[in-house]
Amino acid sequence: MANRAYNFNAGPAALPLEVLQQAQEEIVDYGGIGMSIMEISHRSKQYEQINDETQQLVKELLELPSGYKVLFLQGGASTQFAMVPMNLLAPGRKGAYVLSGSWADKAYKEAKLFGDTYAAAASKEEGPLNLPSLDEIQLPEDAAYLHITSNETIAGTQYTTFPQTGSVPLIGDMSSDILSHRFDASLFSLIYAGAQKNLGPSGVTLVIVREDLVKESPKTIPTMLRYDTYVKNNSLYNTPPVYSVYMMNLVLKWIQRNGGIDAMEKMNREKTALIYDAIDNSGGFYEGMAVKQDRSIMNITFKLQSDELEKKFIEESAANGFVGLKGHRSVGHLRASTYNAVPYESCKALADFMADFQRRNG
Ligand code: PMP
Repeated sequence: MANRAYNFNAGPAALPLEVLQQAQEEIVDYGGIGMSIMEISHRSKQYEQINDETQQLVKELLELPSGYKVLFLQGGASTQFAMVPMNLLAPGRKGAYVLSGSWADKAYKEAKLFGDTYAAAASKEEGPLNLPSLDEIQLPEDAAYLHITSNETIAGTQYTTFPQTGSVPLIGDMSSDILSHRFDASLFSLIYAGAQKNLGPSGVTLVIVREDLVKESPKTIPTMLRYDTYVKNNSLYNTPPVYSVYMMNLVLKWIQRNGGIDAMEKMNREKTALIYDAIDNSGGFYEGMAVKQDRSIMNITFKLQSDELEKKFIEESAANGFVGLKGHRSVGHLRASTYNAVPYESCKALADFMADFQRRNG
């Protein structure tokens, strides 16, 4: 479609064109009911079907073993920073955190509001952006859980494998890379993800949790902040974000139609190789900000050799149809987010633009 931008936004981010077109078709008449899904009860059979089917799709795509519940919450991943310790950090225990970057730090700070915490490992502060290696992780004996951020969206660093934590529940913030590559979901007791990168529009937070972990939340927690409320009510205790869940349903079906998680991973690796190669083959004109072994296939952070060049890069790329290439305000420089729905063609166009920009300015 001619007028679609090369969208590298970090989130909310690109959605598959086919999904947008289907949503467009269904927005005035969903399944012949003469109304959109937004205009009917969340207790209707139409929404109930979307609710159940979307849970099933998550289970299938992640190959979840039995014993997990898939929940739809609101409040974004940021609310999970608080809900995790509220529900799971018992008095006398410690919430252990892998401090891998700014999102992990936020989760850690929030946990401090509710109980004792423990820094299980931390990124090195000097040198390029990096992740603590899994062997560095130290768990205290009284750990209530270990929290890990699978992909640091701002730094552009990503774990591809995860620690075995035995009887200590492993909790993952997978907001910016869920369904981007194969991983062993059964290592995790709880996974959460804001939807607006790989799953759909903002407004819904996906929570996947081992049922036995959240049988009974502590009595003092407000109803809407208890995991057991969502488990017991099939995410229908109150009005859920119906449109966001509907869109997630379409995105998950798009992933399934296109070959599932392995096909996403293959495509993501091919897409990002184009851009990382443009960086690595530039003779230092472009510089990757993350150490190579920790590079993300979702967020590519890089810089140019001066502020003026970066400003020029942003301006010229914008004039050529590229969107969202400015780095996060906290680290600056440049970032290309290459989530599942960002087409190969956009990444190819960016790699070509980078090479051309270097020719003209190198
Ligand atoms: N965790 C990570 C890894 C993120 O990238 C983000 C959002 N960029 C968040 C948490 C916060 O998500 P939300 O805006 O949905 O609260």
